[in-house]
Amino acid sequence: MESRTEPFSERLAAVRGRIERAAARAGRDPSAVTLVLVTKEAPDSIFEAAHAAGVRDVGENRVQQAELRHEGRADDFRWHLVGHLQSNKARRAVRVFDVLHGIDSIALLQRVDEAAAAFDRRPEVLLQVNVSGEASKHGLLPDDLPDALQAAGGLSHARVTGLMTMAPAAEDAEAARPHFRALAALGRRHSRPGAALGQLSMGMSDDFEVAVEEGATLVRVGRLLVRPEAPGPRDARTVSR
Ligand SMILES: *Cc1c(COP(=O)(O)O)cnc(C)c1O
Repeated sequence: MESRTEPFSERLAAVRGRIERAAARAGRDPSAVTLVLVTKEAPDSIFEAAHAAGVRDVGENRVQQAELRHEGRADDFRWHLVGHLQSNKARRAVRVFDVLHGIDSIALLQRVDEAAAAFDRRPEVLLQVNVSGEASKHGLLPDDLPDALQAAGGLSHARVTGLMTMAPAAEDAEAARPHFRALAALGRRHSRPGAALGQLSMGMSDDFEVAVEEGATLVRVGRLLVRPEAPGPRDARTVSR
Protein backbone atom coordinates (compact mmCIF):
# COMPACT_ATOMS: atom_id res chain seq x y z
CA MET A 1 0.00 0.00 0.00
CA GLU A 2 1.28 3.44 -0.89
CA SER A 3 1.12 5.50 2.24
CA ARG A 4 2.62 8.55 0.54
CA THR A 5 1.29 9.75 -2.75
CA GLU A 6 3.61 12.55 -3.87
CA PRO A 7 5.04 11.80 -7.28
CA PHE A 8 8.70 11.09 -7.72
CA SER A 9 9.47 14.61 -8.91
CA GLU A 10 8.18 16.09 -5.67
CA ARG A 11 10.12 13.65 -3.52
CA LEU A 12 13.21 14.46 -5.55
CA ALA A 13 12.70 18.20 -5.12
CA ALA A 14 12.34 17.69 -1.37
CA VAL A 15 15.59 15.70 -1.13
CA ARG A 16 17.43 18.23 -3.27
CA GLY A 17 16.18 20.99 -0.98
CA ARG A 18 17.39 19.11 2.08
CA ILE A 19 20.82 18.66 0.45
CA GLU A 20 20.99 22.38 -0.30
CA ARG A 21 20.12 23.35 3.25
CA ALA A 22 22.59 20.87 4.72
CA ALA A 23 25.31 22.25 2.44
CA ALA A 24 24.40 25.81 3.45
CA ARG A 25 24.65 24.90 7.14
CA ALA A 26 28.19 23.66 6.53
CA GLY A 27 29.16 26.61 4.31
CA ARG A 28 29.49 24.32 1.31
CA ASP A 29 28.52 24.84 -2.31
CA PRO A 30 25.54 22.50 -2.91
CA SER A 31 26.70 21.91 -6.48
CA ALA A 32 29.65 20.00 -4.98
CA VAL A 33 27.22 17.30 -3.86
CA THR A 34 25.97 14.77 -6.41
CA LEU A 35 22.78 12.90 -5.62
CA VAL A 36 23.05 9.30 -6.78
CA LEU A 37 19.55 7.88 -7.18
CA VAL A 38 19.76 4.26 -5.99
CA THR A 39 17.31 2.47 -8.26
CA LYS A 40 17.79 -1.09 -7.01
CA GLU A 41 14.32 -1.31 -5.46
CA ALA A 42 12.50 0.79 -8.05
CA PRO A 43 10.53 -0.34 -11.09
CA ASP A 44 12.03 0.20 -14.54
CA SER A 45 9.81 3.22 -15.08
CA ILE A 46 11.92 5.15 -12.57
CA PHE A 47 14.59 5.78 -15.21
CA GLU A 48 12.35 7.81 -17.49
CA ALA A 49 10.92 9.81 -14.57
CA ALA A 50 14.41 10.38 -13.18
CA HIS A 51 15.85 11.49 -16.49
CA ALA A 52 12.97 13.88 -17.08
CA ALA A 53 13.64 15.37 -13.64
CA GLY A 54 17.30 15.93 -14.43
CA VAL A 55 18.82 12.99 -12.58
CA ARG A 56 21.99 11.84 -14.34
CA ASP A 57 23.52 9.57 -11.67
CA VAL A 58 21.94 6.23 -10.83
CA GLY A 59 23.12 3.46 -8.52
CA GLU A 60 22.54 -0.28 -8.58
CA ASN A 61 24.02 -2.92 -6.28
CA ARG A 62 23.68 -6.01 -8.49
CA VAL A 63 25.63 -6.45 -11.68
CA GLN A 64 22.98 -8.54 -13.37
CA GLN A 65 20.12 -6.14 -12.74
CA ALA A 66 22.32 -3.25 -13.83
CA GLU A 67 23.18 -5.00 -17.08
CA LEU A 68 19.52 -5.33 -17.96
CA ARG A 69 18.71 -1.75 -17.03
CA HIS A 70 21.81 -0.24 -18.60
CA GLU A 71 20.90 -1.71 -21.99
CA GLY A 72 19.58 1.15 -24.10
CA ARG A 73 20.26 3.67 -21.34
CA ALA A 74 24.05 3.55 -21.19
CA ASP A 75 24.55 7.16 -22.21
CA ASP A 76 21.56 8.60 -20.39
CA PHE A 77 23.16 8.24 -16.96
CA ARG A 78 26.39 7.82 -15.10
CA TRP A 79 26.08 4.29 -13.69
CA HIS A 80 27.29 3.74 -10.12
CA LEU A 81 27.87 0.36 -8.48
CA VAL A 82 26.99 1.07 -4.87
CA GLY A 83 27.40 -2.35 -3.30
CA HIS A 84 30.03 -4.96 -2.83
CA LEU A 85 31.59 -6.45 -5.98
CA GLN A 86 32.44 -10.14 -6.21
CA SER A 87 35.74 -10.44 -7.99
CA ASN A 88 34.38 -12.95 -10.52
CA LYS A 89 32.01 -10.20 -11.73
CA ALA A 90 34.68 -7.55 -12.26
CA ARG A 91 34.67 -7.87 -16.04
CA ARG A 92 30.92 -7.55 -16.31
CA ALA A 93 30.91 -4.69 -13.83
CA VAL A 94 33.39 -2.51 -15.69
CA ARG A 95 31.36 -2.78 -18.88
CA VAL A 96 28.31 -1.32 -17.17
CA PHE A 97 29.48 0.94 -14.40
CA ASP A 98 31.26 4.28 -14.66
CA VAL A 99 31.87 4.60 -10.91
CA LEU A 100 32.50 1.69 -8.53
CA HIS A 101 31.90 2.63 -4.89
CA GLY A 102 32.59 -0.58 -3.01
CA ILE A 103 36.14 -1.67 -3.82
CA ASP A 104 37.53 -3.05 -0.60
CA SER A 105 40.75 -4.94 -1.29
CA ILE A 106 43.92 -4.54 -3.30
CA ALA A 107 43.22 -7.79 -5.14
CA LEU A 108 39.80 -6.54 -6.21
CA LEU A 109 41.22 -3.18 -7.24
CA GLN A 110 43.74 -4.92 -9.47
CA ARG A 111 41.07 -7.22 -10.86
CA VAL A 112 38.95 -4.20 -11.77
CA ASP A 113 41.92 -2.53 -13.43
CA GLU A 114 42.69 -5.60 -15.54
CA ALA A 115 39.05 -5.85 -16.57
CA ALA A 116 38.96 -2.15 -17.42
CA ALA A 117 42.08 -2.53 -19.55
CA ALA A 118 40.53 -5.48 -21.39
CA PHE A 119 37.52 -3.37 -22.38
CA ASP A 120 39.40 -0.07 -22.66
CA ARG A 121 37.26 1.47 -19.96
CA ARG A 122 38.38 4.12 -17.42
CA PRO A 123 36.13 3.58 -14.40
CA GLU A 124 36.29 5.76 -11.34
CA VAL A 125 36.87 3.75 -8.19
CA LEU A 126 36.11 4.64 -4.59
CA LEU A 127 37.80 2.60 -1.91
CA GLN A 128 35.37 1.44 0.73
CA VAL A 129 36.66 2.01 4.22
CA ASN A 130 35.25 0.39 7.31
CA VAL A 131 35.71 3.39 9.58
CA SER A 132 33.43 2.05 12.30
CA GLY A 133 35.40 -1.19 12.60
CA GLU A 134 32.16 -3.24 12.70
CA ALA A 135 33.09 -6.84 11.93
CA SER A 136 30.04 -7.27 9.70
CA LYS A 137 30.96 -4.44 7.34
CA HIS A 138 32.91 -4.68 4.14
CA GLY A 139 35.80 -2.32 3.69
CA LEU A 140 39.46 -1.71 4.11
CA LEU A 141 40.56 -0.80 7.57
CA PRO A 142 42.00 2.71 7.79
CA ASP A 143 45.45 1.22 8.42
CA ASP A 144 45.23 -0.65 5.09
CA LEU A 145 44.72 2.53 3.08
CA PRO A 146 48.37 3.45 2.45
CA ASP A 147 49.06 0.09 0.80
CA ALA A 148 45.87 0.27 -1.25
CA LEU A 149 46.75 3.77 -2.44
CA GLN A 150 50.21 2.64 -3.35
CA ALA A 151 48.63 -0.11 -5.46
CA ALA A 152 46.27 2.47 -6.97
CA GLY A 153 49.26 4.43 -8.19
CA GLY A 154 50.30 1.48 -10.33
CA LEU A 155 47.00 0.98 -12.17
CA SER A 156 46.62 1.64 -15.87
CA HIS A 157 42.86 2.13 -16.30
CA ALA A 158 40.92 2.34 -13.03
CA ARG A 159 41.22 5.74 -11.37
CA VAL A 160 40.91 5.90 -7.59
CA THR A 161 39.26 9.25 -6.91
CA GLY A 162 38.04 8.93 -3.35
CA LEU A 163 36.60 6.96 -0.48
CA MET A 164 33.25 5.44 0.45
CA THR A 165 31.76 4.27 3.71
CA MET A 166 28.54 2.97 5.20
CA ALA A 167 27.58 4.06 8.69
CA PRO A 168 26.27 1.41 11.07
CA ALA A 169 22.49 1.26 11.38
CA ALA A 170 21.47 3.40 14.32
CA GLU A 171 18.39 5.03 15.79
CA ASP A 172 19.61 8.50 15.10
CA ALA A 173 21.31 10.02 12.05
CA GLU A 174 23.65 11.88 14.39
CA ALA A 175 25.23 8.55 15.29
CA ALA A 176 26.67 8.44 11.76
CA ARG A 177 28.45 11.78 12.13
CA PRO A 178 31.72 10.55 13.69
CA HIS A 179 32.05 7.89 10.98
CA PHE A 180 31.50 10.40 8.18
CA ARG A 181 33.88 12.84 9.80
CA ALA A 182 36.50 10.10 10.09
CA LEU A 183 36.16 9.26 6.38
CA ALA A 184 36.60 12.91 5.42
CA ALA A 185 39.70 13.11 7.62
CA LEU A 186 41.14 10.00 5.96
CA GLY A 187 40.51 11.53 2.54
CA ARG A 188 42.43 14.67 3.51
CA ARG A 189 45.22 12.77 5.21
CA HIS A 190 45.88 10.45 2.28
CA SER A 191 45.44 12.89 -0.60
CA ARG A 192 48.60 13.58 -2.56
CA PRO A 193 49.36 16.04 -5.35
CA GLY A 194 48.07 14.39 -8.51
CA ALA A 195 46.30 11.71 -6.46
CA ALA A 196 43.62 13.60 -4.56
CA LEU A 197 40.92 11.63 -2.80
CA GLY A 198 38.40 14.34 -3.53
CA GLN A 199 35.31 12.17 -3.72
CA LEU A 200 33.56 11.11 -0.52
CA SER A 201 30.64 8.74 -1.02
CA MET A 202 28.68 8.68 2.22
CA GLY A 203 25.09 9.11 3.33
CA MET A 204 21.89 7.21 2.47
CA SER A 205 18.17 7.88 2.99
CA ASP A 206 18.47 8.07 6.75
CA ASP A 207 21.63 10.10 7.13
CA PHE A 208 22.47 12.00 3.93
CA GLU A 209 22.10 15.43 5.53
CA VAL A 210 24.67 14.62 8.20
CA ALA A 211 26.92 13.28 5.43
CA VAL A 212 26.60 16.51 3.43
CA GLU A 213 27.44 18.53 6.54
CA GLU A 214 30.56 16.39 6.94
CA GLY A 215 31.74 16.80 3.34
CA ALA A 216 30.02 14.15 1.19
CA THR A 217 30.40 14.74 -2.55
CA LEU A 218 28.22 11.73 -3.45
CA VAL A 219 25.13 10.76 -1.47
CA ARG A 220 23.41 7.46 -2.31
CA VAL A 221 19.68 7.78 -1.78
CA GLY A 222 17.21 5.07 -2.66
CA ARG A 223 14.28 4.30 -0.42
CA LEU A 224 13.32 7.86 0.40
CA LEU A 225 12.94 8.61 -3.31
CA VAL A 226 11.58 5.35 -4.66
CA ARG A 227 9.84 3.56 -1.77
CA PRO A 228 9.14 6.16 0.89
CA GLU A 229 6.61 3.84 2.53
CA ALA A 230 9.18 1.07 3.09
CA PRO A 231 10.86 0.54 6.44
CA GLY A 232 14.44 1.72 6.65
CA PRO A 233 17.53 -0.03 7.98
CA ARG A 234 16.75 1.51 11.34
CA ASP A 235 13.69 -0.74 11.38
CA ALA A 236 15.57 -3.65 9.87
CA ARG A 237 16.01 -5.41 13.18
CA THR A 238 12.36 -6.36 13.06
CA VAL A 239 11.64 -6.43 9.32
CA SER A 240 13.56 -8.65 6.94
CA ARG A 241 14.24 -7.05 3.57
C1 LIG B 1 20.73 0.36 -1.06
C2 LIG B 1 21.96 1.14 -0.83
C3 LIG B 1 21.90 2.52 -0.69
C4 LIG B 1 20.59 3.29 -0.64
O1 LIG B 1 20.02 3.09 0.63
P1 LIG B 1 18.60 3.71 1.01
O2 LIG B 1 18.49 3.45 2.48
O3 LIG B 1 17.61 2.97 0.20
O4 LIG B 1 18.66 5.15 0.69
C5 LIG B 1 23.08 3.20 -0.54
N1 LIG B 1 24.27 2.57 -0.53
C6 LIG B 1 24.36 1.25 -0.67
C7 LIG B 1 25.71 0.61 -0.63
C8 LIG B 1 23.23 0.48 -0.83
O5 LIG B 1 23.32 -0.85 -0.93
